[in-house]
Amino acid sequence: MQDLTHFIDGARDAGSPERYAEVFNPATGEVQARVPLASKAEIDAVIARAAEAQVGWGATNPQRRARVMMKFGALINEHMDELAELVSREHGKTLPDARGDVQRGLEVVEVCMGAPSQLKGEYMNGGGPGIDLYSMRQPLGVVAGITPFNFPAMIPLWKMAPALACGNAMILKPSERCPSTALRLAELLQEAGLPDGVLQVVNGDKEAVDALLDNETIQAVGFVGSTPIAQYIYGRAAANGKRAQCFGGAKNHMIIMPDADLDKAADALVGAGFGAAGERCMAISVAVPVGEKTADALIERLVPRIEKLKVGPYTAGADVDYGPVITKAAETRIRGLIDSGVSEGADLVVDGRDFSLQGYEKGFFIGPSMFDRVTPDMEIYREEIFGPVLTQVRAASYEDALKLTMDNPYGNGTAIYTADGDTARDFASRVNVGMVGINFPIPVPLSYFSFGGWKKSAFGDLNQYGPDAFRFYTRTKTVTERWFSGIKDGGEFHFKQMD
Ligand code: NAD
Repeated sequence: MQDLTHFIDGARDAGSPERYAEVFNPATGEVQARVPLASKAEIDAVIARAAEAQVGWGATNPQRRARVMMKFGALINEHMDELAELVSREHGKTLPDARGDVQRGLEVVEVCMGAPSQLKGEYMNGGGPGIDLYSMRQPLGVVAGITPFNFPAMIPLWKMAPALACGNAMILKPSERCPSTALRLAELLQEAGLPDGVLQVVNGDKEAVDALLDNETIQAVGFVGSTPIAQYIYGRAAANGKRAQCFGGAKNHMIIMPDADLDKAADALVGAGFGAAGERCMAISVAVPVGEKTADALIERLVPRIEKLKVGPYTAGADVDYGPVITKAAETRIRGLIDSGVSEGADLVVDGRDFSLQGYEKGFFIGPSMFDRVTPDMEIYREEIFGPVLTQVRAASYEDALKLTMDNPYGNGTAIYTADGDTARDFASRVNVGMVGINFPIPVPLSYFSFGGWKKSAFGDLNQYGPDAFRFYTRTKTVTERWFSGIKDGGEFHFKQMD
């Protein structure tokens, strides 16, 4: 069993832990490593050292900071396979999916290579007589990133790259279930030229998070995880006077109109519903076909596709569609939700509960499941399942489907499949959800836009990455400047004589 560490002041550091968390191999159910959980005193000490390191980094010109990002991007590419393997080993997702996890993080690093152009302020010449105004964007100081288990590379990169490119120091607390990728990314950043102490990766649980939230030096908190924790962190950070953006859970609906290409919609639903075992905040978990005919035709196409899915460990080769879920507790919870769907009267048209894989009987695997005739009062509709379970709620009309989506408390992503531009346009402009796909199942915006949900999927201001990130990780200072008329018109240049 491996002993993991923190990454402090430019080196792996075991800390002086009194507590550890177990890191599982989700495919076998075995504990493969233990990770130290930092105490409040350790967190406070690490923050103090980051504050010292930030002074020089914040004063480094933006182009030099961007060059560190350029080198970092090159190193991520060079180490792509190694990073993907680290992701898969702890998370369980397939290797192609893990490469996507690294790639979508890398794309944010690529945008940060152009950070100087985002950090330019504004200028007004002659805002009043002889008066000019300009604003500048300055780093906040030391900021914190707290990230979930489900994207061990992408989300830490979404946090660290913009924060560092803006001249901040960051304390990153990755998920204690998948900590290794963030530690390796920190090493690569150091190799790229980041000064020691500017990025500190500290492992921990609630004690470490609370210490970050209560420490006065921390200026801003970027969180991604489940909704109850997002709301808690937002409240505590704000009460302590910090800037906070906290992204939470989701229940993403896809509306399928009668005129949609149903084969394409079914393919999209299977990929978006079961990819990464449904453990994506942008997974589609609710299919909403409009009209009984559409619903029947969709089920006819979905069932054989779902039954064909290949579930297995990431080591089993390229034809595995998805792997295990993250922990035994997650598996038990998801199985309980499937049972509740059955007892509340939904139609379980594909039942994955009996799935078992020879040689991996202790792994956290669940076969794919699909429910039809789900209603909004059922637990499987109300809860974020975060597992390989797709539900179908039948809607009588487009307006009913839209209302269902809008009444849901979450608002991360949504999609519509239709052949009609007018319907698609109406949907995009009216729906109260942050990211919308039109004939596109997982509309995670590219890195030069920005990512964020609405309603209970996000608390705080501004989205992640893209232009919003440069606003979140800097403070604006505005200077109003006047120079009185002097030497130019009234100055006297001759040698004064005594009268
Ligand atoms: P989680 O909320 O359990 O954990 C997220 C982070 O918070 C971890 O670093 C964890 O150590 C910390 N944490 C957990 N409990 C805490 C507590 N009581 N006090 C303080 N800190 C605590 O989430 P998870 O299970 O790691 O991730 C899955 C969730 O994240 C899902 O709900 C998913 O939808 C969501 N998610 C959202 C987005 C998004 O951008 N909206 C992206 C990915 C995942």
